[in-house]
Amino acid sequence: MKQAAILSERRAALVDRPEPRPHDDWVVVKVHAAPMCTEYKSFLAGAPSDSLGHEAAGEVVAIAQPGRLKVGDRVVAMPLYGCGCCNLCVSGDYIHCEDVLQGNAFPPGGPGHPTYAQYIVKPDWLLPKIPDGAPYDHAALACCGLGASFGAMQLLGVNAFTTLLITGAGPVGLGAVVNACFRGARVIVVESVPYRADLARKLGAEAVLDPADPATPARIRELTGIGVDCALDCSGTVAAQRLCIDATRRKGRVAFVGECHDDLKLQISPDMIRKGLTLMGSWHYNLADFGKLMQVIQTSPLIDHLITHRFPLSDIQAAFECSISRQSGKIILDPWA
Ligand SMILES: [Zn+2]
Ligand SMILES: [Zn+2]
Repeated sequence: MKQAAILSERRAALVDRPEPRPHDDWVVVKVHAAPMCTEYKSFLAGAPSDSLGHEAAGEVVAIAQPGRLKVGDRVVAMPLYGCGCCNLCVSGDYIHCEDVLQGNAFPPGGPGHPTYAQYIVKPDWLLPKIPDGAPYDHAALACCGLGASFGAMQLLGVNAFTTLLITGAGPVGLGAVVNACFRGARVIVVESVPYRADLARKLGAEAVLDPADPATPARIRELTGIGVDCALDCSGTVAAQRLCIDATRRKGRVAFVGECHDDLKLQISPDMIRKGLTLMGSWHYNLADFGKLMQVIQTSPLIDHLITHRFPLSDIQAAFECSISRQSGKIILDPWA
């Protein structure tokens, strides 16, 4: 089968790999839509890799035993490979599993875990079924496109009475705008890239402010009076994390979705105790909420605006160049085009 690989700095191409085989409760899925996510970082770094992609939607084509799925079922492939046994996995918070299966631990039959490929193999419990009528590319947004921010909004309790600040309007932040607007929230976005600022407005953000503008904190205060009810950082930058904390009203809630390994200076008294602020980290959503997220995907008119580009997998070089240009929302790869 065809699979994408990074060959060197800013160079990607297709390679041939053996097709994965089903075994036990692991089923083979023919990938029809593979969203691009953080893989552009490896493309820029030039670290050779044929292990690309963790988001997909497709069709079950082979099973090894009777189980939750049958051949022909349409499914979303959830990111990662939780152990399936621990309390976190069983409760639906499998993304936090401490015994996640790594690439070299995959059973015989080929790894089959990268989603920039024509086939993948996965335990059936990590392959929730797509409702009838939802196309594969829309359903694939139930991974990071809409899933990451959906989980955060469940924690934040975002609803029609919420004013929400979203910092960073990359694909995850733009997905957050879609989720927030679906819930009827008032949305303020902070984003510097004009293409993405425009897209955030098109998706329903009331105001899009420039993080480099020193007047931005005052402008948020002006728009809200007392500060936002909730803030969601999708940028993974310390400056934006600080803005989220400062711009949120007393007794408000802040969630962090953007990955970050830098140090944020936090003063417990002024930042948390006296403001009564709740800070939380959020990676993904509980698997039990899959149906609720599918309702957003099936009914929001904004979904097609969130997907800005589609590429055949054979055009992986052009797809990566689009991804690093930041002139895009969510990009979807088709391994069969
Ligand atoms: Zn587990
Ligand atoms: Zn992702």
